[in-house]
Amino acid sequence: MPVRYNKYKEMPLQLCPGCKLDDQPGSCEIRDCVKSKGLNHCGACREFPCDKITKFNNDGVPHHSEVLKNLRQLEEIGEDRWLELQEEKWRCECDAKISWYVKKCLKCGKPIKTNY
Ligand SMILES: [Zn+2]
Repeated sequence: MPVRYNKYKEMPLQLCPGCKLDDQPGSCEIRDCVKSKGLNHCGACREFPCDKITKFNNDGVPHHSEVLKNLRQLEEIGEDRWLELQEEKWRCECDAKISWYVKKCLKCGKPIKTNY
């Protein structure tokens, strides 16, 4: 049974500050693995998609569920273009930034279409 988002919502934020922010070795096996290989992200790894990243993608947490897709796309189109697409994806028509789990724009109130 997939883990429900509400369970994660109650966890302390410091559980995972994100791949680029947490520099503590041992706090994330995926991050440690990527760093040990001298890579910038998993998509560049010869073993991609390995069990570790596949399990993470499929762990039931909504914002983990696009990891494999994103890493493939990142490798395919390059970091600059990928970041441009993310900028577009995570912006409301009114230009306000939007994020995971937000059901409507905090600025204009327009409902946010989610794809998970
Ligand atoms: Zn808006």
